[in-house]
Amino acid sequence: MTPPTAAVVGSGPNGLAAAVVLARAGVLTTVYEQATTIGGGARTAELTLPGYRHDVGSAVHPLAVSSGFFRRFELSKRIELVSSQVSYAHPLDDRPAAIAYRDLDRTAAALGIDGRAWRQLLAPLVDRAQRVARFTGSTLMRLPDDPAMAVLFGLRALEQGSPAWNLRWRDEAAPALLAGVAAHSVRPMPSLSTSGTALALATAAHAGGWPIPVGGSQAIIDALAADLLAHGGTIETGVEITDLAQLGPVGAVLLDTTPRALVRLAGDALPSGYRDRMLAYRHGDGVAKVDFALSEPVPWADSSLRVAPTLHLGGTRERIAAAEAAVASGRHADDPYVLLSQPSVVDASRAPSGHHVLWSYTHVPHGSTIDQTEAIIRQIERWAPGFRDVIIATSSATAADMQRQNPNYVGGDIATGAATLWQLAARPTLSIDPWRTPMPGVYLCSSATPPGPGVHGLAGAYAARSALRHEFGLRRLPYLGLGVEPAR
Ligand SMILES: Cc1cc2nc3c(=O)[nH]c(=O)nc-3n(C[C@H](O)[C@H](O)[C@H](O)COP(=O)(O)OP(=O)(O)OC[C@H]3O[C@@H](n4cnc5c(N)ncnc54)[C@H](O)[C@@H]3O)c2cc1C
Repeated sequence: MTPPTAAVVGSGPNGLAAAVVLARAGVLTTVYEQATTIGGGARTAELTLPGYRHDVGSAVHPLAVSSGFFRRFELSKRIELVSSQVSYAHPLDDRPAAIAYRDLDRTAAALGIDGRAWRQLLAPLVDRAQRVARFTGSTLMRLPDDPAMAVLFGLRALEQGSPAWNLRWRDEAAPALLAGVAAHSVRPMPSLSTSGTALALATAAHAGGWPIPVGGSQAIIDALAADLLAHGGTIETGVEITDLAQLGPVGAVLLDTTPRALVRLAGDALPSGYRDRMLAYRHGDGVAKVDFALSEPVPWADSSLRVAPTLHLGGTRERIAAAEAAVASGRHADDPYVLLSQPSVVDASRAPSGHHVLWSYTHVPHGSTIDQTEAIIRQIERWAPGFRDVIIATSSATAADMQRQNPNYVGGDIATGAATLWQLAARPTLSIDPWRTPMPGVYLCSSATPPGPGVHGLAGAYAARSALRHEFGLRRLPYLGLGVEPAR
């Protein structure tokens, strides 16, 4: 008997997660990738100079450690993930930086007058961190498996996503620390989507931490690809799929693409109502990215920042909110929010001895073609005078370049769809099985489906689970761990 077959279009973390689940279930799976290398938003490459390994997309992986898919896949046994006692840091003017340590109590103690309020906000979530991860790593269209935790999370999200968001705080450090994570959602704040993102990421910071893979994010991708190949799968790079007919007769097609790409690939085969909803799916504002090769570590004025793998620049919560509001209204912020990762402070393999790599991006209006190198250098210089002197080389990608590198990042939107409250529930449409399209055998598995952006592999795994059930009659997820499945 010939085995069942599937094609996956796109080799991002979700495409490869889907392929691993299918292949492990005995489905002969082929992945097609338009780029010459695999990994989508989780690739690592020598972007500046030989010997300097930069993450092309994602750099920091709180979601990979909390993801139910990667837990089953035993990612932490397959690659080396390093974290610091500092999850993320936030420099402020004329005072010590605010720091989110792994240790919640240490963080609260350093926050002084707001320490108690920080504890009260986060301790109940940190105590239930795995359940929080399951809730935020699912779809809003399903009932939470722990309603009490969902209420705790929801009440906090309502407070920090409303105009009452400052009532809890007396000083500027704690709200700035929260604004740094809220801004990951690339949305004006306060809102429920920014506060939900902030709470999920801050909870992870005090639970599993914010780890970095030794060698770069590519290590995650290589582990997925190795597992796929070991289970009979194949990967073809440099192959852009422009029509589903290219894939030949296969039992299931999983698309690690945008909803608009689904419409292009399917031609007239989609019902018009669904097709219109896919075309109405909105992409958000963009990011512009700059990578640096450095002769020395960043000369932070506040020495506590030298050991922080991740930093948020932009100052107080009010200033970050103003920067995000400017972007949302189509302007480049004068005082931009900048997200930084300095992986070589915990992973020496990224650069030649004594040298460093620095990863940065800032938010810009959708489709921006303006290079942000100077704007980012100026912002770093504010808290690290002399930074300019340690730069050996830079590599810059505008928002428009981000889309040229990866068709999923329309206008530079690295979330593959604006993280509005509506699009967090209806991603890409309101359904309890949003991965399954009305076209028989065709599924969406990218971060345009729940649970949305991030390197967690969950969108791919959920789409594969739906395909296994509906196309191949398999209700049980295959074993994804190392070695032989333990007896149940
Ligand atoms: C600059 C940047 C920083 C980020 N930082 C973080 C971070 O620190 N932590 C984190 O968790 N997440 C981060 N993210 C987000 C994360 O990388 C994405 O959410 C994640 O990669 C989404 O995975 P995916 O598989 O859905 O899509 P992608 O990773 O975007 O992969 C999609 C793949 O499909 C391919 N493809 C698309 N259409 C076709 C076609 N027609 N034919 C063939 N191939 C096709 C693309 O080339 C691409 O390789 C970041 C992303 C970027 C870009």
